[in-house]
Amino acid sequence: MALVVQKFGGTSVGDPDRIRNVARRVVETARAGNQVVVCVSAMAGETDGLVALGQDLGEGDPTPREYDVLLATGEQKTIALLAMAIHRLGHDAESLTGWQLGMRTDASHNRARIQEIDCGRLRAVLDRGAVAVVAGFQGVDDDRNITTLGRGGSDTSAVAVACALGADVCEIYTDVDGVYTTDPRMVPSARKLARISFDEMLEMASLGAKVLQVRSVKFAKRYGVPIHVRSSFHSAEGTWVTREEDVMERLVVSGVTYNRDEAKITFRKVEDQPGVAGRIFDPLSEAGIVVDMIVQNLSSDGTTDMTFTVPVGDYANALKLAQDAAAGLGAEVEGDDAIAKISVVGLGMKDHAGVANRMFNVLAEEGINIQMISTSEIKISVIIQEKYTELAVRALHDAFVDAGGDEPREEG
Ligand code: ADP
Ligand code: ASP
Ligand code: MG
Repeated sequence: MALVVQKFGGTSVGDPDRIRNVARRVVETARAGNQVVVCVSAMAGETDGLVALGQDLGEGDPTPREYDVLLATGEQKTIALLAMAIHRLGHDAESLTGWQLGMRTDASHNRARIQEIDCGRLRAVLDRGAVAVVAGFQGVDDDRNITTLGRGGSDTSAVAVACALGADVCEIYTDVDGVYTTDPRMVPSARKLARISFDEMLEMASLGAKVLQVRSVKFAKRYGVPIHVRSSFHSAEGTWVTREEDVMERLVVSGVTYNRDEAKITFRKVEDQPGVAGRIFDPLSEAGIVVDMIVQNLSSDGTTDMTFTVPVGDYANALKLAQDAAAGLGAEVEGDDAIAKISVVGLGMKDHAGVANRMFNVLAEEGINIQMISTSEIKISVIIQEKYTELAVRALHDAFVDAGGDEPREEG
């Protein structure tokens, strides 16, 4: 008997018929002799609607605690409906909110991190042969306040439950057939990957491929639980996210991603002295703003320019803090939120040269200017003007993935 965690996203539970379809799949898995935990998102559009209501009543700055109480209602609705649909099929099921299942998180509202899952209640439900229907995206802090895990957080709830229970697999059912070489909704020629390593998936998720929330992949990697991303509309195999040793195809570039959710802030004419970077970044870190790319120019006349990116949701706050810091430093500040980060990711980059310059040439041929560059062992990212996002993704996908054979030379 296997222990399977199945997660169904918003589109997959988007209306009553789809919930019935999910109930059938879950019951099939259970009747095949497996123990099943099913973790669900809010119905499609529900969280967006709650966000809009909260922003309206909270006048753009809703109280974080109450905002989480509100957002968590979306998933509570789905667990009740799915449990009822499973009952109609003659199978036992019990719905559990984050609090009931003991999903303990830290206290950072709207972006809480899971600390511990008390598996007692879950085990009791499974031991009596019932399906546990778990609310994704929500938890509870030490003071019993409801918390949420950030957009897309149900992936993380599901994988964390799978890790805590030592499940054999975590299946992520969604509205595409698996993990593709790029967003299949933007590039129709995108190809489904049979397997992808945890590290490549971590990079792709953190660089914008929203098919999995990045923290879900971190959990899976740490505990070695394989993730199977697949369609909720048919039963074909999807993509296995797994250990590097289990990935046969070591592609130079396995994916192209985009992220339009960052903004850029530039300090000009900053004095080139020890301690200046601290004065710029300390206030941002105190405000809990996560800085992503940072580029500093070489100084010429004793001053330098420094540019960095922040999540677009923190842009207004970050710009204000930057302006305050600049006033004290005698520097100037500029901001731009119409940018996109485009990245190419692949394990094979570790032993291939020439990926970066090929990427720059492809963008140049399309007349796209590169504003910032950052690299790691298995990825190269550039910041460009947002309006060129689609053009850049298509051109890079054509060059690196569709072209296949025309790859950069192998080193050595
Ligand atoms: P769910 O509601 O099931 O959690 P999401 O909308 O969060 O689904 O994630 C699935 C979406 O991720 C797809 O519809 C697709 O547009 C997008 N996506 C972006 N990049 C990729 C990729 N590389 N492979 C697959 N899907 C991707
Ligand atoms: N319902 C939440 C969202 O829309 C969590 C999720 O679907 O993963 O972001
Ligand atoms: Mg999602």
